[in-house]
Amino acid sequence: MIALSVVIPVYNEKENLPELIDRTLATCRGSMREFEIIFVDDGSKDGSREILREASVLNPEIKVVMLNRNYGQHAAVFAGLEESAGDAVVTLDADLQNPPEEIPRLLDELDKGIDVVGTVRQNRQDTFFRRAASSLVNSVAARATGVSMRDYGCMLRGYSRMVVNAMIGCDEHSTFIPVLANSFAGSTIEIPVKHSARTGGDSKYGLFKLISLQFDMLTSMSTFPLRMLSLMGGVISMLGIGFGVLLAVLRLAYGPIWAANGIFTLFAVLFVFIGAQFIGLGLLGEYIGRIYHDVRGRPRFFVKEICGRPKNI
Ligand code: UDP
Ligand code: MG
Repeated sequence: MIALSVVIPVYNEKENLPELIDRTLATCRGSMREFEIIFVDDGSKDGSREILREASVLNPEIKVVMLNRNYGQHAAVFAGLEESAGDAVVTLDADLQNPPEEIPRLLDELDKGIDVVGTVRQNRQDTFFRRAASSLVNSVAARATGVSMRDYGCMLRGYSRMVVNAMIGCDEHSTFIPVLANSFAGSTIEIPVKHSARTGGDSKYGLFKLISLQFDMLTSMSTFPLRMLSLMGGVISMLGIGFGVLLAVLRLAYGPIWAANGIFTLFAVLFVFIGAQFIGLGLLGEYIGRIYHDVRGRPRFFVKEICGRPKNI
C-alpha cells in the first residue's frame, strides 16, 4: 500500500491540465512519501484525454481512468476512489480553483488519524449566485446530516482509507461524496484553504446540473426533506385551527355581517384539511424513506479494526 492517492476528476479541462499536472506532481514529490495521482477523465471531448494519456506515459506516478462518457463529477471521483490504493486519499478539482499546494496541510491532519478533512474556501472566487446558493445548501445539509461543516461544496478534501473503503461499499447511484463520507467518519475537521478564480475554461455546472446536484445531496443524506412535509402539514393545520378560533371570537364580537357570510370560516376549514393532507403525505413519506433507505443497501456499519483474541485454528 502506498501513502497517498490524489484523485482528480477531469471534464474538458485542457487549458488547465498542464499546469495542474506540474503543480500537483511537484507538491506530491515535495511531501516525501509514496504517492499516486489518479486522473479520471469524465468523457472529455476537447483533447484532455490525450494530454492525460501522455502524462501517464511520462510519469509512473500518474494513472488515468477514462470513462466512456460524461457521468458527472461525483461519479468520476467515485471511479477514482475505486482505483486508489493510498492510505490517505485527497480529492481535488482540475480547474486549479483549489491550489494543489494545500495537499500537505490536509495530509498533516490525515496523519493524525482524522477520518475526513473538509475545507473551507477562504474569500471564495465564485459568482454571487453560486455563493448564495452554497450557503443555503450548507446550512440545510448541516442540519440534516447532523455533521456541521461549513463548506460542503469544496471538493478539496481528504479521506482515510477506512472511509474510502466504506464509500466504495455503497452501491447507490446518486451520490454526493462529502455527505456520504461524513456518514462514515468517526472524526472530522475543517481547515481553511485558498481559493482562486477559474483561469482557463468554463464552469462545468450550469443551472440545471447544479440543481440536480443539490437534489443528489439532499436525498443522499436522509429522509429529512420528507419529514418536512409532516412538519409543514402540522403548521398549516394549527394555523387553520387558530384562524377558525379567531373568526369565531370576532364573529361573536362584531356580528354576522362582519364575517362575510361564512366565507372566512370556509378558509379556516380549508386550511385544516390542507394541513391534514400534508401530514398524510409526510406519513407516506416516512414509509418511502424507509424503503429508500433499505433499497440503497449502505453498509450498516464499518469495522475499523478488531483487537485481541487471535483466531487459533
Ligand atoms: N467535472 C467532471 N464532470 C462533470 C463536471 C465537472 O468531472 O460532469 C469536474 C471538472 O473537470 C472539475 C470539477 O469537476 O475538475 C469541478 O467542476 P467545475 O470547476 O466546473 O465546478 P465549479 O467549480 O464551477 O463548482
Ligand atoms: Mg471549479
